[in-house]
Amino acid sequence: MNLTLSPGARRQLDALSQAQPEAGPWLAMLEATLAEAADPIWDATAAATTLQPERAPGTPLLAGAQIPLDRDRADRWLRRLLARAAEAGSDAIPLRAAASDDALDAIALLEAAVNNDGDRLDGIARSLGLDPETLGAVAPLAAMPLLQALRRRFGAAVDPRWSEGVCPVCGGWPTLAEQRGLERARRLRCGRCGGDWAQPGIRCPFCDAVGHEARAALVAEADRESRRVETCAVCRGYLKNVSTLRAWAGDEVGLADLATIDLELVAVDREYERPEARPLNPPAMVSGG
Ligand SMILES: [Zn+2]
Ligand SMILES: [Zn+2]
Repeated sequence: MNLTLSPGARRQLDALSQAQPEAGPWLAMLEATLAEAADPIWDATAAATTLQPERAPGTPLLAGAQIPLDRDRADRWLRRLLARAAEAGSDAIPLRAAASDDALDAIALLEAAVNNDGDRLDGIARSLGLDPETLGAVAPLAAMPLLQALRRRFGAAVDPRWSEGVCPVCGGWPTLAEQRGLERARRLRCGRCGGDWAQPGIRCPFCDAVGHEARAALVAEADRESRRVETCAVCRGYLKNVSTLRAWAGDEVGLADLATIDLELVAVDREYERPEARPLNPPAMVSGG
């Protein structure tokens, strides 16, 4: 099973389980998700997916896409994920009942997760007797195998001139920024699909503010150059920025996110926050056969 992860993801996972043993259950869930993401069944789904032929400039690739899923396979994956997530802490225990609830509609849940549709996810949570926050924490993982496969399939079709703040593939906000290589190229990375893009100039990815207001930096003394938090004075959003020697593999971004949780605490302590998820518009349509 471990062989299915990229070497980079394997290294991050090993380092994380050493450094944050208390995150064990969450790490196990993330590892299972990344292993699932490498299953060829999702590549077959991506191969059968059709993109909207005409997209307005600045529209992510998956907006309006038609995604046909094997309903039984999707159902098995989601129930397995929910059962595993129920082990992650006392707040998550209700997920165990949801994992075997007949009312769980895997296609609807995956569609809402792919589209970052918070209202719909809240409704699904209530229909399963779950706290929306509990389901909200699992939803990005639920969609990850599908989104990673769609990025593998369609990532090369991204317009090289793409300069939006959101991911050119799935429309999500960047999870992290890389300061990559000797030339320290700034690349935005999406933890959901693994998307990788540049946003030229000094601009806040979340609110499009430009110039010095859009980019200040919070740093820990020890790692001034290599790890920092970019903050925006206009929208109070923040983005973690890490120096890398080479690009993170697509399945590595979510792990890098977890490995920089200390930076997150610095940002939240100063009352910066990650903006609310932005729904994909027009939404992708997931169908179950
Ligand atoms: Zn993405
Ligand atoms: Zn901003």
